Amino acid sequence: MAIKSFHPPQRILMGPGPSDVSPRVLAAMARPTIGHLDPVFVTMMDEMKALLKYAFKTENELTMPVSAPGSAGMETCFVNLVEPGDKVIVCQNGVFGGRMKENVERCGGIAVMVQDDWGRAVDPQKLEDALKANPDARIVAFVHAETSTGALSDAKTLVEIAHQHNCLAIVDAVTSLGGSPLKVDEWMIDAIYSGTQKCLSCTPGLSPVSFSTRALEKIKSRKSPVQSWFMDLNLVMGYWGGAAKRAYHHTAPINSLYGLHEALVILQEEGLENSWARHQKNHLALRAGLEAMGLNFVVPVKDRLPQLNAISIPDGVDEVAVRNILLNDYQLEIGAGLGAMAGKVWRIGLMGHASNPRNILVCLAALDDALGRAKAPVKRGVAVDAAQKVLAG
Ligand SMILES: *Cc1c(COP(=O)(O)O)cnc(C)c1O
Repeated sequence: MAIKSFHPPQRILMGPGPSDVSPRVLAAMARPTIGHLDPVFVTMMDEMKALLKYAFKTENELTMPVSAPGSAGMETCFVNLVEPGDKVIVCQNGVFGGRMKENVERCGGIAVMVQDDWGRAVDPQKLEDALKANPDARIVAFVHAETSTGALSDAKTLVEIAHQHNCLAIVDAVTSLGGSPLKVDEWMIDAIYSGTQKCLSCTPGLSPVSFSTRALEKIKSRKSPVQSWFMDLNLVMGYWGGAAKRAYHHTAPINSLYGLHEALVILQEEGLENSWARHQKNHLALRAGLEAMGLNFVVPVKDRLPQLNAISIPDGVDEVAVRNILLNDYQLEIGAGLGAMAGKVWRIGLMGHASNPRNILVCLAALDDALGRAKAPVKRGVAVDAAQKVLAG
């Protein structure tokens, strides 16, 4: 049996990630592989760190991409900062807060869960109450942009509250980096991780992270070694660290890093603030179209995340059939519900390169057709017009 080369179809990726990858990024990844200690490569790594500092709005020296997906960035934060017996307050308002709890417990820490409704921002008052009830807590962790529900939390306020109670703050910015205002230094975030396949328009598989000096002090004063050899920042920094000569730790995913470098160059060309504004404007256009059809958002306006639009599935509609029409007839992928929201919502992503007027109009026209064929109780023939009015405005 002669298996032939794999040629994936060209899709439009408007789910919860991966999102469309810029052709410039794909082209960069096809450039020649060189050694990961080659001086030319090391220069590229220094540029990468500078570009990531720009994207995170930080001067943190320890800012670099972990050689693995967002979940590994999450794990890097927890294994380095949580020691056995440490009490960690985890604010959960969706799927990813639950993963934080798993991480804390696998590090031997004690997770105190602060639950918020799915589809709502994390409530700062509940965090404050939990910290008052747990004066021995050392760390607070929360998700800035909950991709499972489309809710955006007030990271600045949550970090402030954590610091008032002598806690470090770990923030999940997998879906916010590049898409929503995020200011690591100004908001005094201690440890943050992201992903490359959401608003950075890059392929999956890398996780930008950044650690403050406060976080580094905690890591340096650990009583026990970090349980993970691969993610131990003391070792990783021998490769990614300062000006000293680089030592082999693991073989970096060289071509993937070319891709992230290019993605960050694109972000810098556009301007970070312009990218945030583009995500917001395109969200408003998509929203106008969806609401004109009579579809309803899950998240109230004040908590809404522009790059992830969760809408309720109309009663009696076969949600899988609708997504199949989008995928097979329009080459368009949107996301299904996750966790408690499985079967109840669709998640339409407008992330990075995919957040553009063409995708909005194609998505609305395709949904109009698919929902019509599914006999959904929606208003037909109005969505594209409503979105175009916002795009023109
Ligand atoms: C996608 C995502 C992750 C996990 O990232 P992977 O690259 O899939 O490992 C973590 N947190 C949030 C909020 C995400 O959206």
